[in-house]
Amino acid sequence: MGYLCRKKKQPLYRLLGSDNAAVAVGISLGMNNLEDLMQEVQAAVEKGYTRVKIKIKPGWDILPVQTIRQSYPHLKLMVDANGAYDLADVEVFKSLDAYDLEMIEQPLGDDDFINHAKLQRIIRTKICLDENIHSIEDVKVAHQLGSARAINLKWARVGGLFNALEIIQYCQKHGLLVWCGGMFESGVGRSYNLALASLEGLDFPGDISESSRYWSEDIVEQPQKLVEGRLLIPKISGAGFNISKKRVEKYSEKIESFI
Ligand SMILES: [Mg+2]
Repeated sequence: MGYLCRKKKQPLYRLLGSDNAAVAVGISLGMNNLEDLMQEVQAAVEKGYTRVKIKIKPGWDILPVQTIRQSYPHLKLMVDANGAYDLADVEVFKSLDAYDLEMIEQPLGDDDFINHAKLQRIIRTKICLDENIHSIEDVKVAHQLGSARAINLKWARVGGLFNALEIIQYCQKHGLLVWCGGMFESGVGRSYNLALASLEGLDFPGDISESSRYWSEDIVEQPQKLVEGRLLIPKISGAGFNISKKRVEKYSEKIESFI
């Protein structure tokens, strides 16, 4: 895609059909003690992140949510369980319903559509599926069974940007909230995420933190930096970055040439 964009002398986000070069983003926090968590939430809010997600697991769920809510009653807040629960934990999710969460991400196992559907019928908060979603077929199953009302879209996991666009269209047509997820990516993967997240309809802030959250130095010449809760997409042709050869060499353990 980057090559195609450079050939067409267009930035990727424009080629995907977006006019939006400033993308509101969220942050995902994985601390498991209250003091550290509250410090991180405060830092994230002060930095301008417009949505905060915390990781939960059995024994670490209601208390952190309750504590954050006491200090930040209006913060866009959500939780991600990474599949750590089963349906027997339904009381936890019923309790979380009281905290006005944006959604509960992947509460149950990553191949379980049936129990997610049962849980979604019991709780008011949206269930978002993440690890379950590998293709548009998975999205269709989730929608038709009622397993989720939101989809965390990771374009690499669904087989690329074209598949991701197809999923976005399906979600929009069927009233599923779809938003752009993220992983521990360098500026390369993050640039593609940002281009996708700039599309109309993906307004819910994605998991696309600024480069410095994960890297002391990114390997791209345009590390993403948060400005008033938004990441700006460079208006250059290509996927929004140039690789810094100097930094790649600096951090390479071994270089081999095949040419
Ligand atoms: Mg997740």
